[in-house]
Amino acid sequence: MTVIDIDDLIEDPKDGGLELLDCVVVGAGPAGLTAGLYLRRFHRNVRIVDAGASRALQISRSNNCPGFPSGVAGVQLLERMVRHLRQVDGFVLHDTVSHILRHPDDSFVVCLSHEKLWTRNVLLCTGVKDRQPDVAGVDALVSADLLRQCPVCDGYEFTGKHIGVIGNSLHGVKEAAFIRHFSANVSFIEIAAKTPCTRLDVAVHSAGLHRIPGVARHLAVDADHKAFVTMDDGSGHRFDVLYAALGADPRSQLGSALGASVDERGNLVTDAHSKTSVPHLYAAGDVVSALDQISVAVGHAAIAATAIHNDLSSA
Ligand SMILES: Cc1cc2nc3c(=O)[nH]c(=O)nc-3n(C[C@H](O)[C@H](O)[C@H](O)COP(=O)(O)OP(=O)(O)OC[C@H]3O[C@@H](n4cnc5c(N)ncnc54)[C@H](O)[C@@H]3O)c2cc1C
Repeated sequence: MTVIDIDDLIEDPKDGGLELLDCVVVGAGPAGLTAGLYLRRFHRNVRIVDAGASRALQISRSNNCPGFPSGVAGVQLLERMVRHLRQVDGFVLHDTVSHILRHPDDSFVVCLSHEKLWTRNVLLCTGVKDRQPDVAGVDALVSADLLRQCPVCDGYEFTGKHIGVIGNSLHGVKEAAFIRHFSANVSFIEIAAKTPCTRLDVAVHSAGLHRIPGVARHLAVDADHKAFVTMDDGSGHRFDVLYAALGADPRSQLGSALGASVDERGNLVTDAHSKTSVPHLYAAGDVVSALDQISVAVGHAAIAATAIHNDLSSA
């Protein structure tokens, strides 16, 4: 939990000689970099702060990114976006925002590790963190690109393949049923269950899925570059690919600490202009309650940046 120094609360940012910015964008994934680009192109005084953990960095090759018919690696996409931002004198501060304070005049003081930023608006583009299966061998599968997170992103690439879906809840069963659209050969693999087993069994059965008996104990990559799952009864099962269907944790704490509304999964709730329930606090991308996709993050960010610009113009 963030500890807020009482001195931070009473300090007047003007006395600290801070420049009043138009906007601080927290996060430089696809959402934050798009927002930064738009705001700079509106001639706005913006700072973008990033802790370096974009989900996009995990994308070996995205094939559903419009305009990239041969696909694009997440690293490459982010590099191109940073280059585009630099063209308009935008840049990223590599740091972590520990907390954000509300000043009585409705501005914000954004606290980084060694400096503070004073701003009229804050845009949170902080993303989510995927939950990985707590099973031995998981790192080897991730390195081999055999453990996927997002069937909306890459289910198409595994059309007709033998797919294992690792889950521990009804959410996992729902995701496995979604994946079944791409292949009839989908098995549900349980890790320590969150939902009582009989309910999971019923859900798996009614979704028409095959369930591997027992609980997964070990994951590995075999000699043919297939995913190999060993269950607690000693049985082994090979798959072309595995999906982790365990959900994700939104990085929404900076917003909720300021009183912004979140949904039941912890995502920030925004209106059609990307505004949260806190005045001058906006949010875009995966951290918002919506489909977790690059195109959605980019769209949210364009809307948020334009709304921020319009609000500043009418103030
Ligand atoms: C394996 C994988 C494959 C995927 N494939 C695709 C695909 O093919 N197509 C597609 O459309 N989507 C894909 N996605 C989803 C896509 O990566 C996300 O939708 C996208 O990255 C969301 O962008 P974002 O800017 O909202 O968040 P992110 O890209 O996650 O960026 C958030 C940034 O905020 C920073 N941050 C968080 N908190 C703080 C803080 N307190 N201070 C400073 N910085 C902070 C983080 O370090 C991070 O850099 C994939 C995701 C994964 C995991």
